[in-house]
Order: sequence, then C-alpha cells, then structure tokens
Amino acid sequence: MQPGGGPTDYDPDAVRARYRAERDRRLVPGRADIRDLRRDEQFARFRDDPFTPFSEREPVRDDVDVVIVGGGIAGVLAGAELRKAGVERIRIIDQAGGIGGTWYWNRYPGVMCDVESYVYLPMLEELDYVPKHRYASGEEIRLHLQAVADRFDLGPDALFHTGVAGAAWDERGARWRISTDRGDDLTCRYYVLAVGILNLMKLPAIAGMEDFGGCSFHSARWDYGYTGGAPGRPLTALGDKVVGLIGTGATGIQCLPPLAAAAKHVYVFQRTPSAVGVRANRDTEPDFARRLAPGWQQARMDNFQAVMLGKSVDEDLTDDGWTHHYAAVHHPPRHEGMTLEEYLRGGEELDYGIMEEHRRRVEELVRDPEAAAVLKPYYRYLCKRPCFHDEYLQAFNNPNVTLVDCPAGMERVTDHGPVVDGRQYDVDCLVYGTGFEAELTPLFRRAGHDIVGRGGVTLADKWSDGAASLFGMMSRGFPNLFVMPAPGQQAVVTVNYTQLAVLGAQYIGGAVGLLDEKGAQGNGVTVFDVSAAAEQEWSQKIIDSFVDASGVMAACTPSRINLEGHPEAMNPRNGNYGRGLGDYFGYRRLLEEWLDAGDCEGLEIVVRSDPP
Ligand SMILES: Cc1cc2nc3c(=O)[nH]c(=O)nc-3n(C[C@H](O)[C@H](O)[C@H](O)COP(=O)(O)OP(=O)(O)OC[C@H]3O[C@@H](n4cnc5c(N)ncnc54)[C@H](O)[C@@H]3O)c2cc1C
Repeated sequence: MQPGGGPTDYDPDAVRARYRAERDRRLVPGRADIRDLRRDEQFARFRDDPFTPFSEREPVRDDVDVVIVGGGIAGVLAGAELRKAGVERIRIIDQAGGIGGTWYWNRYPGVMCDVESYVYLPMLEELDYVPKHRYASGEEIRLHLQAVADRFDLGPDALFHTGVAGAAWDERGARWRISTDRGDDLTCRYYVLAVGILNLMKLPAIAGMEDFGGCSFHSARWDYGYTGGAPGRPLTALGDKVVGLIGTGATGIQCLPPLAAAAKHVYVFQRTPSAVGVRANRDTEPDFARRLAPGWQQARMDNFQAVMLGKSVDEDLTDDGWTHHYAAVHHPPRHEGMTLEEYLRGGEELDYGIMEEHRRRVEELVRDPEAAAVLKPYYRYLCKRPCFHDEYLQAFNNPNVTLVDCPAGMERVTDHGPVVDGRQYDVDCLVYGTGFEAELTPLFRRAGHDIVGRGGVTLADKWSDGAASLFGMMSRGFPNLFVMPAPGQQAVVTVNYTQLAVLGAQYIGGAVGLLDEKGAQGNGVTVFDVSAAAEQEWSQKIIDSFVDASGVMAACTPSRINLEGHPEAMNPRNGNYGRGLGDYFGYRRLLEEWLDAGDCEGLEIVVRSDPP
C-alpha cells in the first residue's frame, strides 16, 4: 500500500495523463462566464431576501464612532472587540435582514459548517456555549452569532436591509461619510469593512436560463415558500415536484440528501465531482463541556491551525478529514537528504493515495457502477475545495435521484428545464447551487461600493494592479479605514476563517483603543494613515514570499481555486504573509507585538481638534 492507502500499481505518468484528460473535458470556452447578480436586472429577484420582510423606515442621519459594513462573523467580532475597547456608538450595516452574513443568507436544507464547530463558532467561552454537534447546522451558527451581537449590544443601532452605496473620506470633518441605498447619511470616525469572502453569489451564464418557466433560485436565497419546510425540517411541498440541482460543490453536497428525501425526482447536474470524504458528524459528548479548561477554545483553534500548517503537536484534537488529508497533502513528509524532486514525487504519490481512498469510497457507497464512475474525482486533492459528508453519495442509490454528467456545462435551459447532450430534462424547479465568486475576487468588488480616499482616489483605482497595505488591513490614502483580514489582500489564509476573524477583530479593537487614547491626550480626534514606507515594506514582504504554484495548478481541473483554469492570473501582490497557506502564527505575533508596543509603528498620526 502507498501512503494514504493507495494501491501499489501506482503509475505517475498514467495518473497525470488521466487527470489531464479530465481537466481538458472541463476547460471549455465560456466556462467561467457568469451573470453579475449585483447588477443583472433579469435576475434581480435572485437578490431578494426571502427570510425577513422588508420594512420601510425613514433615512437615518447620524454621526457615530464606527460604521461596520457587514454583520457576519467578521463584522460581529469587530463590533464585539470595539465594545471591549470602550467604543460606544457603533452601527453595523448589512443588506441582510439580520445578523449572520453567510449564515444569514445560506439557509438551504442541510447547511452546516465543514470545519469543526468547536473551533468555527466564535466566542464559545465568552458565551458559555457548546455546539450541539461536531459540525453545527447553519441555523445554530446564525443564532449563535445573533447571541454574540446581543451580548455586545450591536443589534439596536444596526441598519439591516441596507446596502452601503458609497463611502468617502471627508478631510475637513476627519470622518468617513457613508451613503446607503435607503438614503441614509452617516458619518463616522472609523470605517470597518467586513464585507465577506464568499458574499457574491455566482450564477453561471447559461443560454436561455431566463426562459425557464418554473421556480428557480440560488441556494443562498432558499425559497422555502416553494419547497415547504424550514431549515432542519422536511421540505413538505416537493412530493409532486421534479427538482434540478445544478452544482455538486460544498452546497450541492449538503442539500442533496434532504432534497432526495422530499422531492418526486431530483436531477443532479454535475460538471466536476467533489472529493467527498468522511464527515463523521456526531452529537457533542455530554461531558465535553465538563472536560474543558479556561482558554480551551483558543488552544483548540491553535492546535487545529498548527496541524494544518504541518507543525508537530502532541495530539490532533480535531482529528478529521482536514487534519488527516488536507494537512497531509499540504505538508508531505520531508526527510533529511531528500532532493526537491524526491519530495515533490513523494507528495504526488501521497496525493494519489488519498484520492484513491476517495474514489474507493464512491465505489463502496454508490450501487450503480455508471453513476459511481461519474462521481469519482480525478484530480489532485487541493485542486478543488474538499468536501465531507456522511449521506451525499448514498443519496444516488435512491430511485428518485438521477446524476447527469455535464463536464462541459449545460447546453442551454429552456422553459421546461436544462438541456444536456441534446436531451431535455423537464423540471418544476431549478436550484442553482453554484456557489460564490472566489475569495480572490478583489475586495473593492466584494464591497460593492466605491471607497473614496484622500484626493478622490478610490480603493479600486489604488488596488487595480493588486493590493497595497499594511497587514492586509489598512491602506495608505484611506485614513481611519480598517479592513477585516481575508484571503487575497496581503493577510493570511486559514482553513478556519473564524480564527483569522478573531485575530483581525482583536487587532482593530486594540488599535482603536490606542488611537483614541492618543486623541484623548491631544484633546481631539485621531486621524491615522499608513506611512508610504510601511506600506511599501509590507507589500514587498508579500511579493517576496509569493509561491508561484501555477505549474501545479495549471494541471488541475478548473475550479475557483485555480481561477477556473487560469492560475497564471494570480497576482503576487494579492498573496499572503508567509509561504503556502501563510504563516498564521507569525502574522499573529506581528499584530500582537504591534499592539503591545503601543507606538502604532507604520502609521502617521495626527490629532485634530474635532470640527463642529
Ligand atoms: C455554506 C457555507 C459554508 C461555509 N463553511 C465554512 C466553514 O466550515 N469554515 C470556514 O472557515 N468558512 C466557511 N465558509 C466561509 C464563510 O463565508 C466564512 O467562514 C465566514 O462566515 C465569513 O464571514 P464574514 O463576516 O467575513 O462574511 P459574510 O458572512 O459573508 O458577511 C458579510 C456581510 O456583508 C454584507 N455586505 C457586503 N457588502 C455590503 C454592502 N455594500 N452593504 C451592506 N452589506 C454588505 C453581506 O450582505 C454579508 O451579510 C462557508 C461559507 C458558506 C457559504
């Protein structure tokens, strides 16, 4: 057996050839074409919030300490840490009708986190809460985020169902001026962007899709009015309905089992199979909480992070597919005296073993050999976001589930439903489980509004050739602006996003505390900007540590991870601190040392008398 459990007849050339052939079936013109749901008027209803009724209100005029755009994990944590730093007037603004961000919008049946809940749900110790399961449902996460917002009193001043339309730095007033799509006019001393990493729904541009006569929606706006049921409950209105599920990524995988249990028939349209590993979800053991010592959640997050970064630990506390497979593939064994070539070859072989394990799992769980063949993933493990599920593959054994293989995408959609290889599939309902624009979508696009800094320069202009920042969180020319750290903007990447959000929020809370102290000493308001030298130095660090993996990534099946088959388009400026996944611990040490030093190194600070 090979590492990872693969068979001994491993032939690297044959494997590479097979992977290339599978990639080429999918690398077709137009593959990455999408309808821009931010602007698309034909599909404007796809943006509507199906969960909270819209209520009219008068436009708000207000001057506050901090405006935070986004009420997801990042925005709520930033608000919480700012409260701890003594900030009183905070307004969260979100297009959503409530707190939760990702977990507000994504309420599709079966939605769960993929990273263990004990490290993914933030502030568990502070709220004295233990998730009910090893992987929590979306609803539990949403309610927990609401509880965090309540604990820090962030709800009453929040503006929901409100889109920020523009933000501009007002030099004279030493404030940001924020306008919204509801006519609000707000000013604030500090502006925080917590706009999300997967917040822009991706809708593939398929010929004729606007002609479809049935019900259709994106999975991030699940229409329970049509399907019946509610999150976590059976879909009661689908018994006589044929459903087309487009997409077999993380979302499609989670929502197929409940759909299969409820609908008359489900056609699953698959472009690329995911590698679906064991999830082994289970109830939290009754004595889990009793065994926890103070500081346990940060320690557990650090343990997970360490394993993912290939560091040695006494015990892998999470012990799941991420730590077994993802971490192993990222950090193949490196023995003394090994040449680079041997190391790379060992990594490839390890990868093959792990992918064989996934392919064998399909064979074991899916009875129809034809379906099983189509569901087997043929690419290297990191080419596509790994998935984990205990019921997805078995759903294909249900007589009411049909897998439709369409590696090159659908031909078109008619008023009756999708057409693939000349065959029309009549459906009553089409669910677009087609995911989100990549994390690497530039911040200014994810933010959905112009951010205008000094001299009328927008962030989009400034970052048109790539990010320029200090710590991936502040940028010269945009005074008193903080951006929550995220991939693609000179911070670090973590598999557990919450851990990065916790750190970013602590930094912002701490930095505002320091800056306000300086303001109070000088009897005015603090205006900070990043110095040219600090920005240059940080950006250069990012560029210098960029690992050009486009050679390996080009051999991948196209996915959002390799920019749909164009990894060469990755810009070193948009890389991470540290190599590979990024040096999370080094990044954290830098931020903590910066806060401890208290001198705000790298910032130009002016204390201005507060204009009336
Ligand atoms: C189904 C699903 C499962 C996931 N599971 C995991 C997981 O297991 N582990 C993990 O680490 N990550 C996971 N993720 C990624 C997830 O997005 C992040 O973990 C995290 O929730 C992001 O939080 P956020 O606050 O940064 O952004 P979001 O939760 O996306 O919140 C951003 C908010 O900003 C609002 N917004 C943006 N622009 C504007 C504007 N101009 N005006 C007003 N409001 C605006 C949006 O409406 C949104 O509500 C998952 C994502 C999805 C979709």
